[in-house]
Amino acid sequence: MTAATDVVVVGAGLAGLVAARDLVAAGAEVVVLEARDRVGGRTLTLPAADGTPIDHGGQWIGPTQDRIAAVAESVGVTTFPTWSRGLHTVFRDGRAHRFDQLPAGDPGAAVAMGVAVRELEAMAATVPPEAPWTADQALDWDWQTVESWLQARVASEGARSWLRTAVRSTLAAEAGELSLLHALFFIRSAGSFARLVETEGGAQERRFHQGAQAISIRLAEALGERVVLGAPALVVHHDHGGVVVEAAGHTVAAQRAILAIPPALASRLSYRPALPGWRSQLTQRVPMGSVVKVHALYDEPFWRREGLSGLAISRDAPVEVVYDNSPESGSPGVLVGFVEGRDARGFTRLPPAERRAAVLQCLAGCFGEAAGHPRELLERSWADEEYSGGCFAGFFPPGVWTSYGRALREPVGRLHWAGTETATVWNSYMDGAVRSGERAAAEVLAALGA
Ligand SMILES: Cc1cc2nc3c(=O)[nH]c(=O)nc-3n(C[C@H](O)[C@H](O)[C@H](O)COP(=O)(O)OP(=O)(O)OC[C@H]3O[C@@H](n4cnc5c(N)ncnc54)[C@H](O)[C@@H]3O)c2cc1C
Repeated sequence: MTAATDVVVVGAGLAGLVAARDLVAAGAEVVVLEARDRVGGRTLTLPAADGTPIDHGGQWIGPTQDRIAAVAESVGVTTFPTWSRGLHTVFRDGRAHRFDQLPAGDPGAAVAMGVAVRELEAMAATVPPEAPWTADQALDWDWQTVESWLQARVASEGARSWLRTAVRSTLAAEAGELSLLHALFFIRSAGSFARLVETEGGAQERRFHQGAQAISIRLAEALGERVVLGAPALVVHHDHGGVVVEAAGHTVAAQRAILAIPPALASRLSYRPALPGWRSQLTQRVPMGSVVKVHALYDEPFWRREGLSGLAISRDAPVEVVYDNSPESGSPGVLVGFVEGRDARGFTRLPPAERRAAVLQCLAGCFGEAAGHPRELLERSWADEEYSGGCFAGFFPPGVWTSYGRALREPVGRLHWAGTETATVWNSYMDGAVRSGERAAAEVLAALGA
């Protein structure tokens, strides 16, 4: 297929689809090229054996995530509160300990963690989310990792351990891999540390009845034939006259392009002429996080009967964080577990039987023998997905924000950049993806003089 249009969008995740929606609403002609044979990118909802929709990718939304909430509402995708009633579990030293709030088990560590979080939030408040590299202490913070800051500033190993878990469970990376400036930007972009980690009042507050991918599916339905599946973009020609994107089996000529893919994937495309070094080198330096998401299904959420919330932090197993992920009806019972960061890298190299045994051992440790016998166990490793390369999102190692940050959203001629990695609010989340699509569409419409 060879097509001519106003704007070609690469990527039919939330960012690309929202950008296309806004462009079409403004009267522009659009073609969306999507590599996979489905839309939704890092959201993926598949039915379990009994038909229960299971979110293998992004799933939760929370307060202040207004843009994803608005898009969901506009396409009739509805939400319900995440189950969080009951005691939480910490599995450590081979035993399950129950607490009514976390962090717990070591009051000294909880106090030290509170102090550390207040210090991080005070630092984050000085980081402009539009331009983290302009913060007064940007260089100092960008040249150290979160881990080196923890070692220098947090004396309690218990507090450090909780904070490392918070880093892994929000960024799917190790504290030692992350720029401190990136962590501060990330906190600022979400509003506060609590917003990131809490269920009620935080980013894990609500889920979608129909599954998160339904939002993208409905957006794509409204766009109709403008969305072309199975069309990985390969080469982007761009000059003063326009843009031509060559994809497998399709060539699209347009006035402008929006590349709504993570920086790491944007670096795989060929650009003619080549991109300036400042953009090309940025995309060489923003790796994707590492996460495996596992779901265990049971006839019922039996842990609720025992007064447990289903939220567990496991200190001794590859599955570090577990939540109750049952549908609103409470049937079937579903636990979701996350294997993140370095654990995910080791885990994916184990044979399937060993992975299964490790997950079940962890769940049984946290919730008792019955948890070790799910009727279905599902697993998805996002690093293995060719067109994601990892999850939840791209993160910034030390030195990247201050050396290349300006290149993140700056258009290169007729090429514009979208995707959650470019968001200033709720960066790395679905909400950030939506905001980035809206921003990129506005940028293109202004350039088109619409
Ligand atoms: C396991 C997991 C759990 C998560 N949990 C949450 C959560 O609870 N809440 C939350 O808000 N967020 C969560 N996220 C993150 C959230 O899913 C993402 O931030 C969001 O979906 C990103 O949307 P996007 O449009 O920016 O990128 P993507 O969804 O990655 O979309 C990019 C699209 O581009 C396509 N593509 C890639 N290369 C090409 C190419 N060469 N040509 C054409 N198309 C291409 C891809 O196939 C994809 O469809 C999670 C993610 C994962 C994986």
